[in-house]
Amino acid sequence: MTFKDLEIIEPILRALKEQGYTNPTPIQEQSIPILFKKHDLLGCAQTGTGKTAAFSIPILQHIYLDDRAKKGKRDIKALIVTPTRELALQIADSFTKYGKYTGVKNTVVFGGVNQNPQTSSLRAGVDVLVATPGRLLDLIQQGFISLSKIEYFVLDEADHMLDMGFIHDIRKIIQKIPVKRQSLFFSATMPPAIVKLSGAILGNPKKVTINPEQTTAEKVEQSVYFVSRKNKVKLLSHLLQKYDIDSVLVFSRTKHGANKVVKLLGRAKIKADAIHGNKSQAARQKALKNFKDGIIKVLIATDIAARGIDVEAMSHVINYDLPNIPETYVHRIGRTGRAGKSGIAISFCDVEERPYLRDIEKLIGQKISIVEDHPYPDDAKEEPLKPAAKTVRQKPGTWARKAGNKGGGNYAQRNRKYFKPKKKSD
Ligand code: AMP
Repeated sequence: MTFKDLEIIEPILRALKEQGYTNPTPIQEQSIPILFKKHDLLGCAQTGTGKTAAFSIPILQHIYLDDRAKKGKRDIKALIVTPTRELALQIADSFTKYGKYTGVKNTVVFGGVNQNPQTSSLRAGVDVLVATPGRLLDLIQQGFISLSKIEYFVLDEADHMLDMGFIHDIRKIIQKIPVKRQSLFFSATMPPAIVKLSGAILGNPKKVTINPEQTTAEKVEQSVYFVSRKNKVKLLSHLLQKYDIDSVLVFSRTKHGANKVVKLLGRAKIKADAIHGNKSQAARQKALKNFKDGIIKVLIATDIAARGIDVEAMSHVINYDLPNIPETYVHRIGRTGRAGKSGIAISFCDVEERPYLRDIEKLIGQKISIVEDHPYPDDAKEEPLKPAAKTVRQKPGTWARKAGNKGGGNYAQRNRKYFKPKKKSD
């Protein structure tokens, strides 16, 4: 199957050819004909499968064919909402690339930066708007954006939207777009909350599922090193020095951890940079550009900051920390081995992360091979699980009174630190 077989118009085919794309990826092959027929689409697929082109090509084609004869100011006809600035930039860039010969204009809005350049390009008129939820609502409120002419709506990375607490913003946005529209909904995972949200957005959708196993676990060569927490940085510099690694994305669970790894690698004369939510947008983009240009070969990122990273030739992904959510592992290793290319994913696993490793292996349905021959082996044994203590429900404050603690309050209040909601890594 080639793009020509999908009945894509010549101006888009020409742009795809320039990008070096010859064959559609499975999600493109399956989704593009559905979208040409103006059906709604529920796509279960993650970044790295080629889903951006799968939705942007039909939108560009529809707008191009509908608007050829139209003159005057452009209305925003397509809205793509995505959780992070990096992804928003990436998607807008795809629209620019694939739409190069169509005359269809796009712009991108996201928070954390001055809004003036964004409002200027909105004022000039665009057909396609790519946005993160907060800034979108803000600019609607200020009167810079009207969604009344939207014909195509894409909700991208819906599961991450929910993880990042954007659910209310999404609901507000949906209320502002016309009911008569084509809606596309993409998510890597489909937990019940996502299925419910998709029901609120889509009308009788066609479904396309690209299993993570097909796109990542099968293509990416994976291995795991058992190593103690304190030896992880030594192992990392050992691997970076020993193997000729072109470009590696290293995942850290926390922002603080990411900074620390950059510093420690610096001591070993290995140039690295970090991107995470505490860095300014300019600093993130600079780090990303240096990485893409090959000026730095090692980029340390937290999960959320890494969502939009798309570097064609990324040879390796290293999980410096294993994620406690197994789907995150699949997202991470999807950063390498993109669109048919093979990649290598290495994971470091300390004794406390062994349960995470088991969860990951269960999800991907395969055992990850253990590398035993390395200079920092960890022979720590996992503590056997203690039988769960019997819990006796008590009235709030009972425990404190019994213990002679006049402070009263309940168990949760006194042990607040254990009950804090978990902080996001970004
Ligand atoms: P996405 O899942 O949209 O983030 O795309 C992942 C990567 O695959 C991006 O680098 C795209 O440029 C690339 N890509 C998308 N479609 C194709 C294709 N048909 N052939 C080759 N590369 C592609």
